[in-house]
Amino acid sequence: MRSADTLLLVLGDQLDRRVPKWAGLDLERDAVLMAEVREEAEHVPSHRQRTALFLAAMRHHAMDLVDAGYRVRYARLDSSVNTHSLSGELERAIATLGPRRVVVVRPGDLRVQADIERVCRRAAIELRVEEDRSFTCSLDEFNAWAGDGRKRLTMEYFYRERRRALGILMDAKGKPTGGQWNFDTENRRSFSKAPSLRDSYAARPDTVTREVMTLVEKTWPDAYGRMAQLPWAVTPAQAKRALDDFIDNRLCQFGTYEDAMWAGEPTLHHSRLSSAINLKLIDPMDCVRAAVKAFEEGRAAINDVEGFVRQIIGWREFIRGVYYREGPDYHNRNGLGQHGALPEFFWTGDTDMQCMRHCLGEVVDGAWGHHIPRLMVIGNFALLAGVHPGAVHQWFLGMYVDGVDWVTAPNVLGMSQHADHGVVGTKPYVASGRYIQRMSNYCKGCRYDPARRIGEKACPFTTLYWDFLLRHARQFASNPRMAMMMKNVARLDDDERRKISDQAHALRNRLGIGPVSAT
Ligand SMILES: Cc1cc2nc3c(=O)[nH]c(=O)nc-3n(C[C@H](O)[C@H](O)[C@H](O)COP(=O)(O)OP(=O)(O)OC[C@H]3O[C@@H](n4cnc5c(N)ncnc54)[C@H](O)[C@@H]3O)c2cc1C
Ligand code: SF4
Repeated sequence: MRSADTLLLVLGDQLDRRVPKWAGLDLERDAVLMAEVREEAEHVPSHRQRTALFLAAMRHHAMDLVDAGYRVRYARLDSSVNTHSLSGELERAIATLGPRRVVVVRPGDLRVQADIERVCRRAAIELRVEEDRSFTCSLDEFNAWAGDGRKRLTMEYFYRERRRALGILMDAKGKPTGGQWNFDTENRRSFSKAPSLRDSYAARPDTVTREVMTLVEKTWPDAYGRMAQLPWAVTPAQAKRALDDFIDNRLCQFGTYEDAMWAGEPTLHHSRLSSAINLKLIDPMDCVRAAVKAFEEGRAAINDVEGFVRQIIGWREFIRGVYYREGPDYHNRNGLGQHGALPEFFWTGDTDMQCMRHCLGEVVDGAWGHHIPRLMVIGNFALLAGVHPGAVHQWFLGMYVDGVDWVTAPNVLGMSQHADHGVVGTKPYVASGRYIQRMSNYCKGCRYDPARRIGEKACPFTTLYWDFLLRHARQFASNPRMAMMMKNVARLDDDERRKISDQAHALRNRLGIGPVSAT
């Protein structure tokens, strides 16, 4: 390939077709670099569907760029000269093409950004980092909001400002449509009988995708997870079909059943758009606009549409702002001092707890689960059991098709494991087996009883919930949002406390979690 003036590095989660235009790339003078490297599939154990999705989407993207006239240097995984690290491939491209500058959209992983900076510094070459335009709130705007005399960052206030700034679901008088900012009280319903749902859209793998699936199976025969199929969108056209399918068939109950779970029905009314959004195959604001249009046409109610809009312009943008504001040190946080090992069954789903068997099994088979299995079943269990938050983060990052560090880290370390000293949430999301019983049908037929905390039939969630509150009683005593829980803990007599603690200790040993404290 002849030399290039500007080299645009396109990472696997930066597949927006508009990026070369935004970067001002010249078809004649400049070039694009894309690289399939083992390092990105191995720095955390990656589910085979996650790896295959990234590679298949990258190959489709590269073909589109070539069709559009761009010069693309593409390092294939099976090339004998591949160095198998992004920094190695960038170094090689710089040596061959001799560009004056490297341009990259801000990486969604601070580890990758540091690697790119190091390579460019060593090569004494200019590096231009473009802002990621899939977010409507720039990092400067987020930091201005966060630093504006606030004692703490509250997503709800950020979200209201974003609604105002973008004019989404606002009436002519500047008030929120429907008279409320959120409809949470209407959005906590569970199913009393099996829900009747249509299958959600599943992309059909073409030759390129099938080739990648074979390559992944061959390269990583021992990778975690199963890949009977790869239903995830790998092109913008497929992502648009996935969005249309959600708007037409599931949005109308999205908010209402947002927190519900049902065995054998992982999707329910969720969109399953996260991987397409994270890989930039679809513009998140197109998803928001499509949902608002459905509301305006009377096809979905305000509580369902507002719930969906909040996930995207509220949670997604808030989480991303926190990631860059907190910086690389965020990964080392362990605010509750938990040091237990991640149980082996997280990788297989092989456990006698029905809820965990279903939720983990869906991840092993499908590399995806909606928010509540992540937060209130899997994450809740790890937190209650005292697993090290770093191990939990690595598991979530590698096992879901939508795992990208900017979004996984604050969701896991902050929202789910409360390891970040309360940056993302004012209190830990913890619940006993009773919550799972209320929101799902998992407990029916489980060998454990969600109401019991001691004894052979005691539900592990319930035992560990009380043990967790006892272990952290001093820390939570001054948290007003924990007052009710701590009042209940105060009612336990010494004998009951000892029994809970003994049962939790035995359980952790049986599950291979070991001691919670560092030894
Ligand atoms: C422990 C834990 C780990 C998580 N890890 C990830 C992850 O690695 N990648 C990821 O994309 N999401 C993650 N989330 C957030 C959320 O669970 C997923 O975005 C969502 O379940 C994806 O399914 P969906 O596309 O059907 O989302 P829907 O429920 O249909 O929501 C629509 C969209 O809103 C956005 N969204 C919703 N919630 C969040 C959130 N909390 N943070 C950021 N964006 C959000 C996503 O783009 C999502 O596609 C995690 C949540 C928890 C509690
Ligand atoms: S009883 Fe406990 S372990 Fe069993 S499904 Fe219910 S919450 Fe899960």
